[in-house]
Amino acid sequence: MRESWQERFAETPDVLLGERRQRTIVPVLDFAVGGDEFVTMAGPCSVETERQLMDTAYHVRSAGARVLRGGAFKPRTSPYAFHGLGLEGLKLLAKAREATGLAVVTEVISECDVEMVAEYADILQIGSRSMENYTLLEAAARSGRSILLKRGMMATIADYLRSAQVILSNGNPHVILCERGIRTFETAMRNTFDAAGIALLKEVTHLPVIADPSHASGHRDLVPALARIGVAAGADGLLVEVHPDPDKAWSDGEQSLDFAEFDAMIDDLAPWIALREHSWGRRNTAEARALEAIG
Ligand code: PEP
Ligand code: MN
Repeated sequence: MRESWQERFAETPDVLLGERRQRTIVPVLDFAVGGDEFVTMAGPCSVETERQLMDTAYHVRSAGARVLRGGAFKPRTSPYAFHGLGLEGLKLLAKAREATGLAVVTEVISECDVEMVAEYADILQIGSRSMENYTLLEAAARSGRSILLKRGMMATIADYLRSAQVILSNGNPHVILCERGIRTFETAMRNTFDAAGIALLKEVTHLPVIADPSHASGHRDLVPALARIGVAAGADGLLVEVHPDPDKAWSDGEQSLDFAEFDAMIDDLAPWIALREHSWGRRNTAEARALEAIG
C-alpha cells in the first residue's frame, strides 16, 4: 500500500497538517505570515552602515515589503570574512523599524545571544548552518519570538521537519519555514533551489513557507525567476537580498539586487501573486469546509 505523507513524517506530528489542524498564521506587528497576504522580506545580507540600512529600508518599504532583513551576526564560510556589527547592527535595525514601521528579521547564531537579539528583532532567523543546533532552537523557541527557520543546506525534508518540531515542542507555534537552496552535484549556482520542497512543505505541514531566491541561486540575474517559481510553488512570501550598491556590499553582493532590480522584480511578480491569491482562497474554502464537516 502507498505510504501517506503523514505516515512518512510520523516522527514530527506537531508540524503536520492533520485532519483537524488549521494552518498556522504567524502574527508580526500589524500583519501576518501564512495568511492571505504574500509577505516580502527584503534588505541587505549584512547591516553595514546606518545610511546603507536606512536607504534600503525606505526603498523596500516603498516597493511593498513588510519586513526588513539584515544580518548583525553573520555565520560565514571564511573565518576572515566580515562577521557582522553585532549589537551595533541590532540597534540600527531597531532604528530602521522605528523610522519605517517595517518589522525586523535578523539572524541569531548562538544561544548566548538569543535574549539580546530577541530584544531588537520581531522575527529571529535561524540560519542554514544552524538548523540542527538544537540548543539554539530551544533557546530561540523559549524567547517567544516568531522564528524564521531556514532549511539546512544539507538537510532532507525529514531533517528539516525535525528541527521545526523541536521549536514547536518547546512551546513556540510561530515558525516560518524558508527554502534557501540545498547542495547538489550542480555547482553553476550557489545552491539548487528545491521548488518541489516548497510544494511538499505546503502539502504536509501547517506552517507558512517562504522562498529565499538570493541564497538559492547566488546570482542576482536568477533571483527574479526563482522568486516567480517560489510563488508558483505555493510560497507565502519571499526573503530577498537588496543593497544600494551590490558590488560594494560587505557580503553576498553577487546575489543582491539593487533598488531598480528589486522594483522590477516586484512589478513582474504582481500577476503571479494575484493568481496565488485566487488559489489560496479556493484552498481555504475547501479546507474550512472539510474542518466543518468533521466538526
Ligand atoms: C542570510 O540570510 O544572509 C544567510 C546567511 O542565509 P543562510 O543561512 O540561508 O545561508
Ligand atoms: Mn546572505
